[in-house]
Amino acid sequence: MVQKNSDKGGFDAFLAALGDIPVETAANIVKQKSRDFFWYSPILKQQLEDCRADAVATPRSEADILRIAALCARHGVPLTVRGAGTGNYGQAVPLQGGLILDMIALDAVGPVRDGIVRVGAGAKMRDIDDAVRPQGWELRMFPSTIRTATIGGFIAGGSGGVGSINYGMLSQRGTILGLRVVTLEVEPQVIELRGEAVNQVHHAYGTNGIITEIEMALAPAQTWIEVGAAFGDFIRLAEFCQALGEADGIAKKLITAIAAPIPGRMRTLPFRVPSDASLGLMMIAAASLEPFRDLLAAHGGELIYCVSPSEAAVARATPIYEFTWNHTTLQMLKVDREITYLQTAFPDSGGLDLVDALCREFAGEIFMHLEFVRVNGQVVCRGLPLVRYTTPDRLAQIIKIFEARGSAVFNPHTFVLEDGGRKQTDEKQSAFKGMADPFGLLNPGKMRGAPPPLPPYRID
Ligand SMILES: Cc1cc2nc3c(=O)[nH]c(=O)nc-3n(C[C@H](O)[C@H](O)[C@H](O)COP(=O)(O)OP(=O)(O)OC[C@H]3O[C@@H](n4cnc5c(N)ncnc54)[C@H](O)[C@@H]3O)c2cc1C
Repeated sequence: MVQKNSDKGGFDAFLAALGDIPVETAANIVKQKSRDFFWYSPILKQQLEDCRADAVATPRSEADILRIAALCARHGVPLTVRGAGTGNYGQAVPLQGGLILDMIALDAVGPVRDGIVRVGAGAKMRDIDDAVRPQGWELRMFPSTIRTATIGGFIAGGSGGVGSINYGMLSQRGTILGLRVVTLEVEPQVIELRGEAVNQVHHAYGTNGIITEIEMALAPAQTWIEVGAAFGDFIRLAEFCQALGEADGIAKKLITAIAAPIPGRMRTLPFRVPSDASLGLMMIAAASLEPFRDLLAAHGGELIYCVSPSEAAVARATPIYEFTWNHTTLQMLKVDREITYLQTAFPDSGGLDLVDALCREFAGEIFMHLEFVRVNGQVVCRGLPLVRYTTPDRLAQIIKIFEARGSAVFNPHTFVLEDGGRKQTDEKQSAFKGMADPFGLLNPGKMRGAPPPLPPYRID
């Protein structure tokens, strides 16, 4: 369903006007760069499989981006920004053809000053963490895709991850300090957003600005020990995870609970898990290992894996965070293609009772996976339950039942912002979109609450 906004001749004139900016039109490259991990969802897989851009541009600098944005506005060419293409909801898939803007070359990482770093939006998150660590700092949080994802893609498409147990979700004040954003206008502007204003562009799928630079607050670096703990009962594991989250004296970066039989089926886990065991995966500061073991014993859990980063590197073990967050789903998809997933939030109070009830109600159809995070000072769990997929109607019915029982669902089977992670586009966001993208060319089709676009600009 590729619909081009510009005719062939007009598009060729646009490409010619890009001059010396690197552009790729080879079909295999354009196809590869038009995709992300939308295929996690059987529904998105059907809808997005054939969507393609017409070309991929790789700007070398913000100056290149300003030129590209101006030319897209003048020629009416849709533009979809791309980091590493690890998003799950087709965020980076162009619905109306046009140009992919591959940010990979804007990868500068500045020096750390007072625990703050300024980076190019295309910098890989692994490279940022590696660059700041010798200076005594680390990323406050990262997605489980840290080894491939870019920081710009995480901010525009992600929500939180490893470290959210300490610093909350990305949208909470204080982690993203500033964003430099280019608008898509005939004369593009460069805007610096700070404070709460960064949330205009955070998790907006690149629909209202091209992020070129980011200022992030960091955390003091620690040595994180990777830990696996087995429990015979999932709810006892979840209660332990809650207690660990609330144990303020134990420093941690990750708390994940995965119900049996999922862990026993994960082929690349660096250790064996009994088929009937539920598994907790944690990252615990070396100095907190002793109190962690005491708490685990008090909750009846068994320590089955405990390695330092250097031991894991020698063993070439897959890092345990690559079995958590949305990697849990990926690990299961590797062995069972009939699995899909949901994204849920349980109520702050009584959340684990609801989890228990849902596990019983959907036994054999839903396998629970929880991530523990801190939100507004309180430890809560977010769910990424795995679902044995049958039909779109049954999936919709499950979502309805979850909501009726009191769980919020952020539907990962839609590419429309308001139907997924962002429930509503408010007036401020809509006004910002109208200012930053007056012709409606930035990743069109992803934001329903967008104001009506201006008529196409005429080149006279
Ligand atoms: C296995 C797996 C595990 C995951 N785990 C997590 C997780 O723990 N936490 C989490 O939040 N997400 C997770 N995700 C989703 C995704 O990996 C992350 O959000 C990731 O940070 C996206 O980065 P990216 O560079 O791949 O972005 P892309 O997929 O390339 O882009 C994501 C969105 O951002 C837009 N975008 C990219 N760069 C810019 C820019 N410079 N300016 C404006 N818009 C831009 C794109 O248009 C797109 O809409 C996971 C996905 C997978 C497949």
